[in-house]
Amino acid sequence: MAEDGPVDPSTIGESDAPPVADKPYKIIFEANKCFGAGKCAEVSDNWKLDISTGIAQPQAYFIDEDDLDENVRAAEVCPAKKDRGVIHVVDRRTDEEIAPDPNGDGTLSVDW
Ligand code: SF4
Repeated sequence: MAEDGPVDPSTIGESDAPPVADKPYKIIFEANKCFGAGKCAEVSDNWKLDISTGIAQPQAYFIDEDDLDENVRAAEVCPAKKDRGVIHVVDRRTDEEIAPDPNGDGTLSVDW
């Protein structure tokens, strides 16, 4: 993966993925930058704090419309990375980051 230039979301987590038509959205989680603030778990059932590691863990990485709003909220409330957030919700049909989208242009805001 190139170190300069944006990361292509379509290259992440797709090997065991359910069909896009079933789960049009996916979570990309920068677990190594989570500091266990737990805000995500307060707003979404998809997020739980793992007591043994002290960081959050999503129950599902691929989601449909029914679970979209709560995961968008989790992405938006996450205070990690100076409020840029480490939970990324991506539309698999367009490869755009829906939330938190701190860049404002749909590019994936991971830095790894
Ligand atoms: S809100 Fe962010 S930093 Fe806090 S536990 Fe969830 S993912 Fe980690």
